[in-house]
Amino acid sequence: LVQLYIPLNFMGMLYREIKQALIDIEDMFRIIERNPEIEDRPNAKPLQASNGVVRFEDVHFAYIPERPILKGVSFEVPAGHTVAIVGPSGAGKSTISRLLFRFYEPTSGRILIDGQDIADVQQASLRKVIGMVPQDTVLFNDTIGYNVQYGRWDASAEEVREAARLAQIDRFIGQLPEGYDTPVGERGLKLSGGEKQRVAIARTILKGPPILVLDEATSALDTFTEKEIQDALDRVSRGRTTLVIAHRLSTVIGADEIIVLDQGRIVERGTHASLLAQGGVYAAMWNRQRQVDEARETLKRVEQEA
Ligand code: ADP
Ligand code: MG
Repeated sequence: LVQLYIPLNFMGMLYREIKQALIDIEDMFRIIERNPEIEDRPNAKPLQASNGVVRFEDVHFAYIPERPILKGVSFEVPAGHTVAIVGPSGAGKSTISRLLFRFYEPTSGRILIDGQDIADVQQASLRKVIGMVPQDTVLFNDTIGYNVQYGRWDASAEEVREAARLAQIDRFIGQLPEGYDTPVGERGLKLSGGEKQRVAIARTILKGPPILVLDEATSALDTFTEKEIQDALDRVSRGRTTLVIAHRLSTVIGADEIIVLDQGRIVERGTHASLLAQGGVYAAMWNRQRQVDEARETLKRVEQEA
């Protein structure tokens, strides 16, 4: 894209339009994060998903050979359960979600859904059963209604509104100048991170996939927004196999299993209670986060009183 961009820029013609078109293309690539090297195998069959059991078996991965990112990751998310992955920035958490969606392939090891290696199935069938709420949702330069509808094109207007309601974004949309017809994105109304994430949740509710992958935004949300997003996530993950890259305590506490990833390895795993009792990495992370949260709350109270 950069190589394409420079000569076009020199042409000086229709500069703004071309630039916008390139931004749109870039956005599209960011949304689908497609790695063009990954293609269906010649004998690829459609994935036969039933309950949506997700299994990583000794997965190793590197974006560039010299730098291994995942170093033997194994875990299972039983059908309908929630597994949270936590750990420092750069540990490889988002990489796990990219591998599950097959944007990349493991260097070794396998990823299975309901017993089928995802490397052997048709990508379209794989992506149909996974709902992805990324850490940074990019909205299309279209109406907010279109951005929700994107989850399922044949959904009725009523279903779109219901999904928005469940995702706790309907009231926000109702207050927009043109409601569902309000343009958003680069050329329209700018939405906050929390609002964009709720649009992505609404989209996913509409899609209704058996497997859900949530990459929570790292940025601090205010307590009200955090609770709204948590409620929306609780609704969408109910009864679905959920893998969540968690930053919020509320998400982590409720997970069936918490996996602590550090430098591409699982260093601790267990429930919130058992990990706290262990007094290891997780316990330290949790205590630190709670202190930050408490400090933030105190700061807000002081500001309100001033
Ligand atoms: P986390 O989500 O835990 O913060 P990521 O899985 O996003 O971490 O990234 C793990 C490591 O892989 C980081 O060091 C990051 O810089 C590197 N990385 C991520 N994406 C790419 C990429 N497309 N090419 C090369 N390195 C990457
Ligand atoms: Mg990440």
